[in-house]
Amino acid sequence: MSDESDPYQNFRSQVTDAAELLELEDGVIEYLTTPKRVQKSHLTIERDDGSLETFAAYRSQFNDDRGPFKGGIRYHPMVTAEEVTALSGWMTFKCAAIDVPYGGGKGGISFDPDEYSESEVERLTRAYATAIRPIIGVDEDIPAPDVNTGQREMNWIKDTYETLEDTTEPGVVTGKALESGGSQGRVEATGRSVMLAAREAFEYRDRDLQDATVAVQGYGNAGSVAAKLLDEFGARIVAVSDSSGAIYNPGGFNPRDVGVFKSKTGTVSGYEGATEEMSNDELLTSEVDLLIPAALENAIDSQLAEDVSADIIVEAANGPLTTAADEVLAETDTIVIPDILANAGGVTVSYFEWVQNRQQFYWSEDRVNEELESHVVDAFAEMVDAYETYDADTYREAMYLVAIKRVVRAMDEAGVWP
Ligand code: NAD
Repeated sequence: MSDESDPYQNFRSQVTDAAELLELEDGVIEYLTTPKRVQKSHLTIERDDGSLETFAAYRSQFNDDRGPFKGGIRYHPMVTAEEVTALSGWMTFKCAAIDVPYGGGKGGISFDPDEYSESEVERLTRAYATAIRPIIGVDEDIPAPDVNTGQREMNWIKDTYETLEDTTEPGVVTGKALESGGSQGRVEATGRSVMLAAREAFEYRDRDLQDATVAVQGYGNAGSVAAKLLDEFGARIVAVSDSSGAIYNPGGFNPRDVGVFKSKTGTVSGYEGATEEMSNDELLTSEVDLLIPAALENAIDSQLAEDVSADIIVEAANGPLTTAADEVLAETDTIVIPDILANAGGVTVSYFEWVQNRQQFYWSEDRVNEELESHVVDAFAEMVDAYETYDADTYREAMYLVAIKRVVRAMDEAGVWP
């Protein structure tokens, strides 16, 4: 892996650049860029055919100065200790940027769930829940869904935890189904914050989001919901993709129909409403007003960044631009709304879910959406304010300035002990 695509190095340079603008001491910067604990486990399960298989699994607990560790669990063959560590670091500053009282965590199992039956995935999920049980808890560390995990996995983790602890504790994970203690609005929350961040960015740039053209890379939970909500806002979704490739129609897609097609066939490729099939790189460099990378890290490196033509990029995925790509785009008129703001809707509504679990009092969807909107709008305004006050190079740096100041304040208030 080249340095440019090492997510942990990208995370470290993002934090370090902003921390240097704040003139923080080297020791503080080292603390802010180092995880508190990374647990590695090996999980062995019985396959359906009776054979045994062992998997590497991780949980990184990065920082808990502002509250319990918080972050998703990813199932993907590319999951490594470095990747979950970077993702847990991003969570720390995301929670601070959007101002929810959590630290940062992340976990994952290195495997491709598509290659396993549902009961094998359940056994592996329960083995993982058993391995992390000693270090998670409603006040310690609260997992949530990420790539290739969802309500089903959260329900299994909650059940495993509750069975082993002989209690009921729905707030030990978020992103659960409604009947298992989930929140209204959680499934749509990440896509909703992406839409809200895009709306604020267009307004800030004095541009009209109505009829703006949009390309979405990665038509999963985050990308498809963002596409649907932007379409409802009047924007035109002209290109979408998944790992099999991209589809294009200059007249715009109906995002719901594309979603129905993908859930039937497993892919967007072959959708009858497309006028053209293209590669993911062609989608990322297509002539659109708004580009939403919503797949995985490193979608845009410095080379591809040279060819990006969108005026506004809103990061739905975590870490979709390498630091070198950021540097290329900083020299252009393109504005990049960073992941730690744009996709923070997921963790914000996770926080609302946890609050509701603890109060045993459940909110309406309207209340959830209103509270989410105020967090995103406030964070956007704070980012713009920091950009101007500190003459920051990028909006990412500006959002990190806001977030780092919050984490450092909590750290200072607690002091260093022992
Ligand atoms: P998902 O599994 O629902 O969807 C991911 C999509 O990306 C799939 O359609 C997959 O086919 C596609 N994809 C994978 N590799 C690709 C590639 N190389 N090119 C194009 N498409 C590709 O996952 P998700 O939950 O939507 O997460 C997507 C991103 O958003 C991740 O970076 C995740 O960390 C981030 N995120 C998600 C949430 C959430 O609540 N779901 C919250 C915050 C951040």
